[in-house]
Amino acid sequence: MSQLKYCQGPKCHTYDTKDRKKGPKDNKRNETRRRSSFYYLNNNACSMQCQGDWFDVYGSRALQHFGYLTQPKVLTQDNAWRVRRDWRADTDTFYAYNYLTEERRPLTQEQYNNDSAVTDDGRLAI
Ligand SMILES: [Zn+2]
Repeated sequence: MSQLKYCQGPKCHTYDTKDRKKGPKDNKRNETRRRSSFYYLNNNACSMQCQGDWFDVYGSRALQHFGYLTQPKVLTQDNAWRVRRDWRADTDTFYAYNYLTEERRPLTQEQYNNDSAVTDDGRLAI
């Protein structure tokens, strides 16, 4: 069984729902949600609202920490590769596709499956 963790939304406890209510009658309180998994904020927030609340409080600090872009990122022929699969073919075909030049390079199913043909930043690795 996976471990329970708290929603990271800074205002989670302020949303008044039944599942957040804890404590006996004379000491009622609302608590941050605790679950084994979440759908938002990369598995760290219980709702879109809590994700947005987190971003409002911490988003600009995260940018300061990790650094702002100071010049544009550029897509060129060198980093415009994506791995694709042609589902329409009688037998599946796999290829790397450059969406600036429209060039195709055939891939094996293994290269397609293990994501080794194209780097995360779009460069051809074969
Ligand atoms: Zn929450």
